[in-house]
Amino acid sequence: MAAQETVEHKYVYDFAEGNKDLKDLLGGKGANLAEMTNLGLPVPPGFTITTEACKAYLNTGQEPDGLADQIAAHLESLERGMGRKLGDPDDPLLVSVRSGAKFSMPGMMETVLNVGLNDRSVVGLSAQAGGNDRFAWDSYRRLIQMFGKTVCEVPGEEFEHALDDAKRAKGTKNDLDLDADDLRGLVDAYKKIFAKHTGREFPQEPREQLDLAIRAVFESWNAERAVVYRRQERIPADLGTAVNVVAMVFGNLGSDSGTGVAFTRDPGSGAQGIYGDYLANAQGEDVVAGIRNTVPLQELEQLDKKSYDELLSYMARLEEHYKDLCDIEFTIERGKLWMLQTRVGKRTAAAAFVIAGQLVDEGLIDLDEALHRVNGAQLAQLMFPRFKLDHDFEPVAKGIGASPGAAVGKVVFTSARAVELAAEGEAVILVRRETNPDDLNGMIAAKGILTSRGGKTSHAAVVARGMGKTCVSGADELDVNIPAKKFTVAGQTVNEGDVVSIDGTTGKVYLGEVPVMPSEVVQYFEGSLDPEHIDNPLVRAVHRIMTHADAKRRLRVRTNADTGADAARARRFGAEGIGLCRTEHMFLGDRRELVERLILANTDAEREASLDALLPLQREDFIEIFREMDGLPVTVRLIDPPLHEFLPPLEQLAVNVAVAQERGEDVAKEEALLAAVRRMHEENPMLGLRGVRLGLVIPGLFAMQVRAIAEAAVAVTRAGGSACPEIMVPLVGAVQELETVRAEAEKVIAEVVGDSGVEVLIGTMIEVPRAALTAGQIAEAAQFFSFGTNDLTQMGWGFSRDDVEGAFFWRYLELGIFGISPFESIDREGVGRLVRIAAEEGRAARPDLKLGVCGEHGGDPDSVHFFHEVGLDYVSCSPFRVPVARLEAGRAVLETTGSDSR
Ligand code: PEP
Ligand code: MG
Repeated sequence: MAAQETVEHKYVYDFAEGNKDLKDLLGGKGANLAEMTNLGLPVPPGFTITTEACKAYLNTGQEPDGLADQIAAHLESLERGMGRKLGDPDDPLLVSVRSGAKFSMPGMMETVLNVGLNDRSVVGLSAQAGGNDRFAWDSYRRLIQMFGKTVCEVPGEEFEHALDDAKRAKGTKNDLDLDADDLRGLVDAYKKIFAKHTGREFPQEPREQLDLAIRAVFESWNAERAVVYRRQERIPADLGTAVNVVAMVFGNLGSDSGTGVAFTRDPGSGAQGIYGDYLANAQGEDVVAGIRNTVPLQELEQLDKKSYDELLSYMARLEEHYKDLCDIEFTIERGKLWMLQTRVGKRTAAAAFVIAGQLVDEGLIDLDEALHRVNGAQLAQLMFPRFKLDHDFEPVAKGIGASPGAAVGKVVFTSARAVELAAEGEAVILVRRETNPDDLNGMIAAKGILTSRGGKTSHAAVVARGMGKTCVSGADELDVNIPAKKFTVAGQTVNEGDVVSIDGTTGKVYLGEVPVMPSEVVQYFEGSLDPEHIDNPLVRAVHRIMTHADAKRRLRVRTNADTGADAARARRFGAEGIGLCRTEHMFLGDRRELVERLILANTDAEREASLDALLPLQREDFIEIFREMDGLPVTVRLIDPPLHEFLPPLEQLAVNVAVAQERGEDVAKEEALLAAVRRMHEENPMLGLRGVRLGLVIPGLFAMQVRAIAEAAVAVTRAGGSACPEIMVPLVGAVQELETVRAEAEKVIAEVVGDSGVEVLIGTMIEVPRAALTAGQIAEAAQFFSFGTNDLTQMGWGFSRDDVEGAFFWRYLELGIFGISPFESIDREGVGRLVRIAAEEGRAARPDLKLGVCGEHGGDPDSVHFFHEVGLDYVSCSPFRVPVARLEAGRAVLETTGSDSR
């Protein structure tokens, strides 16, 4: 114990000591700088202060014991290696102090360059740069500016104004026209600004500059914008940032210097080649600020062939090493190339698939790894229609791609107008500053939603995603004026009725109508593209990875479909059965009248007559579906929603009756209808007379459906086909409910099936919490369970599924009560626990119990992994999500077998 206490905690790592797998400790930037150093690439020397040190500082408000000494030791070794001392008056070493967390948070945290410059070393720097006074004073003024702003919270505009004043005095608009004397004057002005705001002189002591800059980087972890960004990107708040202290190299020392970024493949399409930008005689911040235009990286070949060739060889080396697309930042200082950063690069969904396929071809990764590197969210993105942007469409604004898709329509500014125009058959885009629950009807009516404020979890974003509607949020270049029914952007005014196009994947906004094209990936799934004979690299990669996912997965994937057409489409998408055929739509349209008669029946004979009329219609419905599914299992759910949904709305009926009475018309029939609607009216229909409760209350209703299913199966079989019906009872909470329905159903089935060879399974939904908790009993009467996670979430949380997402989920997301709607992705701890209990207890009571899920979660990537883990046999989801579920079911196997190699 005593020995342990004397061992000092290691807070500082030389680049030569780290490696790429230490991201938790060294942050992404530090870990990768270490990796490049160890590969022998030319990285400017330096060291990394760990995230542990940052966390210790943030917890206690002071640097942990030992940190200062460790920094001193590493600085000394850096100085030795460079042959220069930090801030030395004659030949100064300068360093940059850069943040670098585990996950990239672009622009969210701080950087201070040129640390070590002061009134004396600025002269030494000039000498080092061959008497380049201008460069030295420019570097010094940049230090005071960055240090003032970042470390001491001096308002940045004050420096900007002083710079503008200097340029005005010189009669120029260009920084490069300021000479050494002008910049020396600017340094004086900056120092005065610094002193005015901080009450002290600009620190001349290099080590003090370094320590304060490090502290500022620690503190920037908790800056408001960083906190907001983390919340949006779901990055944990307690990771802390590492700090990299790196010897400065300069890209702004003349035309033989410069700076750039490079990608080893195109992060947009995945195509192989050289992608990047270069800016001669500049520092990285100039590139970001867009002061001058960069040139394509290829042009570096003409400017500096030696550095170009060297860079290309390092790029190849890095790709081979990381076995993935890398992005790189580099600087050339007087013809010497320096690698400043690398990381596995971000990419579009299409590039993710294409690159994974290419890397398999190149033998760098295997198919398991390729499958691991793509995901269902990316695949879903590739299934949306896209804008065809081959010519002349420039976005006028860019917001947050909050809900994917490509939407084109006339601009409207109010929910009411959206509803009005949509009712006239117009496609509309609802434009608001931000949305609130009052906008719901307009959002439903619109093709797309565009807001000038709010992020990925704003009301607009959450609700639009829930509806599967295209949404761009937070397009803050838009100046939206609701009363005037217009917005302005990029100097143009857009009035109500003008057409705009919005891309919910990229967040880009276009004026006018951009043509939309269908997704090639959907065409492939639908069978109109043959993957073996097409030279579309994306389709080929999707085909290959999907085939592998199918070979890997244990979970079967079924679909929710209740028409022959949906069933056929889902089969093309790879569905292996129907997991939920909701029968209620079969009671709509011209069958409404029969249902109305059934509900209003006063005698057994009247009721039976309606049921007899419905029977052949239902039989035909099922025959069509069984034919399409051709021997694959089809789970048919007996009718679920409250019957009053099939009757006219109470208010409207009451008014009609009153008006007719007033006119002295014969209203006996309408009065009877009104009385029935009143009788059946429920305050809380979701918790009322629906599901199994209906079957127990209305004699013959379920029996009619069971008969139709069994007769359809027999008819298909007798015609030489094959049918595997599974009858599912909804909303069961107690085994006695199921037993009662089951006894009746078995009698009907025995009568119908005879010696046809048709086998009909009977099972239940598990969607009431009580059913999950008594699953052991219920399994005695059920051959299968299908989890209805929509209702299970509704009743588990007590959230009305039709109301809450629009009403207050945005606030819950903002507060972090949950990171994603529990209706979208299964709440593993709560609702998921009910699923787990029911699966375990159900299987304990009946080992061959078939288990599936048919709530919306069946097509959600994270939920699919959960259902795999819990041991379900299948997931069932809407036809469009079937490929996503197949892919994720394959990935879930990799996760549980631990082939997660990254
Ligand atoms: C469910 O509740 O999850 C379910 C699939 O049934 P429905 O959505 O029809 O209520
Ligand atoms: Mg349900």
